[in-house]
Amino acid sequence: MTLDEIYVEIKNAENIVVLSHETPDGDAIGSSLGMCLALRNMNKNAIVLMKDFPENYNFLPGREFIKTKSEIQKYDMAIVLDCPTLKRVNSEYIEYFENSKVKVEIDHHGKNDMFADYNIVNHVSPAASQILVSSFEYLGIEITKDIGTCLLTGIITDTGGFRNSNVTIESFEFASWCLNKGINLPNVYKQSMLTMSKTKFEAQKLTMNRLEFFADGKIAFTYMTKEDDLKLGIKPGDHDGIVEIGRMIEGVEVSIFLYEKEKGYKASLRSNEYINVAEVCLTFGGGGHIKAAGATMNMTFEEAKKAIISEVTKYIK
Ligand code: 5GP
Ligand code: MN
Repeated sequence: MTLDEIYVEIKNAENIVVLSHETPDGDAIGSSLGMCLALRNMNKNAIVLMKDFPENYNFLPGREFIKTKSEIQKYDMAIVLDCPTLKRVNSEYIEYFENSKVKVEIDHHGKNDMFADYNIVNHVSPAASQILVSSFEYLGIEITKDIGTCLLTGIITDTGGFRNSNVTIESFEFASWCLNKGINLPNVYKQSMLTMSKTKFEAQKLTMNRLEFFADGKIAFTYMTKEDDLKLGIKPGDHDGIVEIGRMIEGVEVSIFLYEKEKGYKASLRSNEYINVAEVCLTFGGGGHIKAAGATMNMTFEEAKKAIISEVTKYIK
């Protein structure tokens, strides 16, 4: 069993780096911190290397182990979480993965590059954090209150607060276990789902005002430019959740949010019933899950808008 093999490798390692995807979300952060705390409880010198940490996750235990720079050049082990391809790891951190003696990935995305020495991939798990719950249980690694808080955050955010169709019985079982353990679930929920910065609120107002419909109201589209980001003082995490607004509108099958990056535009897509947006995003070199996916489009705004809308339109019934 690969999990057992990984456990042996962990026991043999001293310095371990935990990595995830760029523009980290609740699952990237929750799984990384949960893993890091578990490793530290095993007396490993573990850190998370991560940039663009959204401040609404500052409440999480282990926050102090998140670093933007590494003091070590060569790690005994690198563990990449919630990330199906090395292309999504922040380019500055890829060398720490490449240089590490043992490479591990733990992920729940449908299309996965299996890029590590050990790949634990479960497509039906709603969150990388939930894979860690069952892995820790299997290996007998204690899920402390702090670790549970981090993993619960990943499960809550990747299931849209237990509302998305990816949610499983195990998600609720773990939530119930957390309550039994005395973990403050309502606070985790509030901090990760129900609290927004003023700048995030402004971003939501702007994108709601700009929202347009296509394909007879079955596609909702909105966007933000770098200029908007500058004007509003957008911070990491402020773009999260904007794409969810379009999905809530009656009759909408796919919600699209485009936002400008240093180079090109990032497309974020959500579907409601029948369209596999991961397949749509694959056309543009991206990916994700059936009902939540994304891609980076190296195009002008007009080109990206036209291309993504016409691609989605092909799938509309
Ligand atoms: P979001 O829209 O929240 O940024 O991402 C939704 C889902 O799509 C996440 O599971 C995320 O990992 C995936 N995703 C977003 N952008 C990309 C991308 O550029 N490439 C790939 N392969 N997946 C992406
Ligand atoms: Mn995830």
